[in-house]
Amino acid sequence: MNNPFQNAMAQLDKVAKIKDFGVEFISRLRQPDRDVRISIPVKMDDGSLKIFEGYRVEYNNALGPYKGGIRYHHDTEINEVKALAFWMSIKCAVAGIPMGGGKGGITVNPEDLSKSELERLSRGWVQKLADILGPHKDVPAPDVNTTPEIMAWMADEYAKITGDKTGATFTGKPLEVGGSAGRGPATGLGGFYVFDALRKELGLPEKCRVVIQGFGNVGFNAAEIFTKNGHSVIAISDSKGGVYNANGLDIVKLAEYKKTSSTLTGFENSKNITNEELLETECDVLIPAAFENVITDGNAGKVSAKAVLELANGPLTPEADEILFKKSIPVIPDVLANSGGVTVSYFEWDQNLKGEKWAEKEVNEKLKPMMEDASRKILAKAKESNTDLRRGAFILALERIQLKTK
Ligand code: GLU
Repeated sequence: MNNPFQNAMAQLDKVAKIKDFGVEFISRLRQPDRDVRISIPVKMDDGSLKIFEGYRVEYNNALGPYKGGIRYHHDTEINEVKALAFWMSIKCAVAGIPMGGGKGGITVNPEDLSKSELERLSRGWVQKLADILGPHKDVPAPDVNTTPEIMAWMADEYAKITGDKTGATFTGKPLEVGGSAGRGPATGLGGFYVFDALRKELGLPEKCRVVIQGFGNVGFNAAEIFTKNGHSVIAISDSKGGVYNANGLDIVKLAEYKKTSSTLTGFENSKNITNEELLETECDVLIPAAFENVITDGNAGKVSAKAVLELANGPLTPEADEILFKKSIPVIPDVLANSGGVTVSYFEWDQNLKGEKWAEKEVNEKLKPMMEDASRKILAKAKESNTDLRRGAFILALERIQLKTK
């Protein structure tokens, strides 16, 4: 398995080769400011005690408080969290929000826990880390397998421990406890705005055939939004496998089907496909919206999309990036494509601190121009340096971070 942190650093090195940021600045960015590992003891429902491993990596705060989600996954480990925290620093800079980068996690398969065990685990994470969190220090959010409900438990625990009344230490909360309208679909919607801003430039048709890997919050919302905007989702998968229909899938019906059968396969009017087949499906836009390292040197040669929109974090290895570049398949990088999520998290933080509540329409009207502006600027940077969009995005981000680095 590729080490995601090494991949992230390989991306940084590539950028340093085409633009001189100075050795000192780049070497500072090769390590997080702080990397905290904790053990969380949890009383299980059967009375036994189980110890879980947890993490918070505070990568860089030149632009503002550390910002980034918390991942619950059985494969989560420190190198993954470090990579994700580094990418958050780049992502917030790309999005033009006053936030730095951080990330957290717990090595756990949440499906193995009852709801009350999950709550005790989540509160335990906060108890161990409350000292370093805060609206102006470090602001966590959801990521893979963490939900608004989990954010509500965490925000409540933090308020109990510290007396903080702003609610601004955690974003991605449910609406009733200070969450922002529009936070749920924000990553998918932001990805669509980015795609739409770059579509013509990338030579993509007005109506695209879209293939999506992932049916979680991001994949599902992206599927709905692309469909509503006249594109057709011809294949989609979850971790167990996917379905294909050349004429387009009915996403609303598919979501209902998944609720009752807890799988996508076997859905009416569609052909079952594996995740490997899905990534190689002929289409206009391929959207990896699940995990890191799904497109590698092993399968990148077989990708037959006209463009890739990275809604997952780090879905391509650096080798895969090179292969697609040589095949002239443009990749809209994660740090731009999925930055809508953290941008609306920033809106939530801002609303909490100001005691305001914005309507979903207002949120989306603020999000759209920010995504379009970031897309245009990155395209210009890439053209200026005759490079790909990922390097263009890193150049824009590093310039912004360097300006604020003392
Ligand atoms: N976990 C999301 C990401 O990777 C959102 C982070 C946030 O809202 O702070 O961008």
